[in-house]
Amino acid sequence: MEVVHTCDACGTALSGNRVEGMGEISLMQCDCGLVITSPRPAPDELDQHYPPTYYSYLPRAPSLKSRISAKLRAYKCGYPAEDGLAGRILWRMAASFVGNFFLFYLPYRGPGKRLLEVGCGTGADLEWARQRGWDVHGLELSESAVEIANKRGLDVQRLTFEDASLPADSFDCIIMSQVLEHLYSPKLALQRCQQILRRGGLLLVAVPKFDSWTRHALGNYWHNLQFPVHLHHFNQPVLERMVRDAGFQVCEVRLSSRILNLIYALRKMKQFHLLGRVFTKPQGTLSDVMLIVAEKSVQPTKRPLPA
Ligand SMILES: [Zn+2]
Repeated sequence: MEVVHTCDACGTALSGNRVEGMGEISLMQCDCGLVITSPRPAPDELDQHYPPTYYSYLPRAPSLKSRISAKLRAYKCGYPAEDGLAGRILWRMAASFVGNFFLFYLPYRGPGKRLLEVGCGTGADLEWARQRGWDVHGLELSESAVEIANKRGLDVQRLTFEDASLPADSFDCIIMSQVLEHLYSPKLALQRCQQILRRGGLLLVAVPKFDSWTRHALGNYWHNLQFPVHLHHFNQPVLERMVRDAGFQVCEVRLSSRILNLIYALRKMKQFHLLGRVFTKPQGTLSDVMLIVAEKSVQPTKRPLPA
């Protein structure tokens, strides 16, 4: 294990402000707001903390449920529809109602655009995007997941984001869902996204939301904590600032479904005999996952010169 001395977001020395209410789990909060797991596994120790994940299920022919879900996503994200007028009205109504239950978001940007998903698993989302005209590429560390994605005919490589050879200005969209919190330097990853995206390119970053009621209420039982493999934890203002500092314009922040979060939190409280915590003072949002939608700025972010 290693003790973290400096903050990844702002570079200042960590002053030792422990986050309260996390039991024996040691999270330090920098004055800039970033929350850091410290001590944390050193890079050569990290693998042993990940449970073995083996993907063995090849995708089957789409079921009715998966076809409905794929169509709701397409309507939610504004893709061209082939249904008649009545069908379009009904699907749009359904998508605006049910669509908020899932956080997935990949807006339509026209055909033939290049998409990179970092940490794409078996490539289910990439396949959905490919069917809707994206030219898709993925990176994934699980050997079995890469094998399945390749069998689907997807270009998915078993490489880290740091090690992959990705030319500058080569993608129109990058998805990083539940990835940034696992990295030693989220700041460098965001800067790399900025380099490899084309002008006006889209960045979609989803992470657990530390400033949420469920985190306050569940403390170290919070299911998104994933101690110690989540190395960083983000409040909304911190992540927005990091994304902007990397050269992006934040377009919007989407939050996970409040009602589903509440149901899940209550189930966790019951499981750990913590139902009394339901009276925890409301703090943060009820949603505990956030998705930042950002565009590569046309003008690079200007920073003041150090004094
Ligand atoms: Zn900081």
